[in-house]
Amino acid sequence: MLENLKVGILGGGQLGGMLIRHAIDFGLSISVMDKDPNAPCTRYTSLFTCGNPTSYEDVLAFGKGLDVITIEMEAVNIDALRELTQQGVKVFPSPDTIKTIQDKYTQKQFLLSHNIPVVPGVAIEGKSDLHNYENKLPGCLKKRRDGYDGYGVMVLRTAADIEKAFDAPCVLEELVDIKHEIAVIVGRNEQGEIKCYDPVKMIFSEEKFVLDFQEAPAQIEDSIKKEATALAEKIADALQLVGILAVEMFVTKENKVLVNELAPRPHNSGHHTIEASTTSQYEQLLRAILGMPLGDTGLHLPSLMMNILETEALSANRQEKLQRLLAIPGAHLHWYGKSGGKLGRKMGHITITDSTMENVVAKAETIRKILN
Ligand code: ADP
Repeated sequence: MLENLKVGILGGGQLGGMLIRHAIDFGLSISVMDKDPNAPCTRYTSLFTCGNPTSYEDVLAFGKGLDVITIEMEAVNIDALRELTQQGVKVFPSPDTIKTIQDKYTQKQFLLSHNIPVVPGVAIEGKSDLHNYENKLPGCLKKRRDGYDGYGVMVLRTAADIEKAFDAPCVLEELVDIKHEIAVIVGRNEQGEIKCYDPVKMIFSEEKFVLDFQEAPAQIEDSIKKEATALAEKIADALQLVGILAVEMFVTKENKVLVNELAPRPHNSGHHTIEASTTSQYEQLLRAILGMPLGDTGLHLPSLMMNILETEALSANRQEKLQRLLAIPGAHLHWYGKSGGKLGRKMGHITITDSTMENVVAKAETIRKILN
């Protein structure tokens, strides 16, 4: 039955690649569209279309004849997805949900309208407009659209920093005194069934806003875990989500939980679910969008996930380093097969599992030394 369903993914990066691997377990065949003819997903499906997910014509042409469309990135054409919905194609998450989340300001307004605690912020039209908000500095400036991995985020300490600010529509947020950064992935299907994964804790590198590593289960108080999980469920219901949603949150020094941002798709913070959870986030997404019961989200092993970023040391000695890394029991390598490795680019990730978090951390330290 499942093999007759035509499922499409907009975006062909590593998240789409991992989704296809799980779709194969369900016997599904998956079509993918990405503008890069060498996108990581091309390794996993023969049904690849080279096209731009933000183009109305390309998305419409790709979606015609499919049963269900989902996304692995938010930068997609909403009008085309609405048109496809009219034509009977199921689009999950819904075009309205994607549209709300695509823009960090409308996302914040939506959350506020549902009494979800967020970081206070104002909309900024562009660089010159920032001078009207000098009294709000220091602050965190974020591009409203298309930011990822910290590339659309900068801290403005004083008015002198405005000179180097993004000249684009932005949100200027209060600078939060962050104690922890955590994330919860929540799944919801058409029947309204909801399941959350345990919160994970993300540790970011100081200077680059890029994820350093991530632990699951998060080593934080149970009361915070409960609060974070309740917020994720509330947001999934408010959005009438069908699919999965990553809810990134800050825990402040005063133990307040604030929602930082949402991603209505598979997410970095759920990579570990492949090895450490009963149901991976990718399987959960497929279950949710195909009208199946959601899977058990239980974590059966402590885990730590590290991104592998391209460095000179890694590119010079790749084979030897990966060989040493794979000699460590419980180290699971995911290599994305990206063409061309610019320095700093995410080339893959490693999930380390073991029976105790102490063992996991010790192995992670060894792996970090190997990679650097
Ligand atoms: P991206 O969409 O690029 O991941 P985020 O909004 O998640 O951007 O911000 C990236 C990182 O920047 C966060 O993980 C956090 O470390 C830091 N950051 C974001 N907003 C704030 C803020 N208001 N105050 C302090 N640090 C912040």
